[in-house]
Amino acid sequence: MKLLLAEDDVKLAEYLVRNLKASGYVVEWADNGVDAEFLAIEEDFDCIILDLGLPQKPGLEVLRSWRTQKLETPVLILTARDSWQERVDGLRAGADDYLGKPFKIEELLARLEAVLRRRFGHADTSLRLNDIEL
Ligand code: CA
Repeated sequence: MKLLLAEDDVKLAEYLVRNLKASGYVVEWADNGVDAEFLAIEEDFDCIILDLGLPQKPGLEVLRSWRTQKLETPVLILTARDSWQERVDGLRAGADDYLGKPFKIEELLARLEAVLRRRFGHADTSLRLNDIEL
């Protein structure tokens, strides 16, 4: 499964990339809204993790642009924990799920699996490495 991570907080992004890769995902990272918007259109991702507070172009605008262009890749948004308005706006703009910051990596992985399961069906979310099924 190939993911796009759009997050401008370098420390958080590096932490997420490391953990996502350890979980078997292929991850590309964009640290601003313009690059994220472009990458998602150019390349084929299975899911996008989108921080709403991005430089150059806010995450919400990026998401609206994708949906206007009929990009159907599932999107998991990262929002400030106390901002219910952001979550509502994000879901209305076409996000599939959200996670409030700060969050536990376990919750991100679980929500990611749930989003991918809804999109691709149960069978496609398991990763097979030799005889080990994750
Ligand atoms: Ca941010």
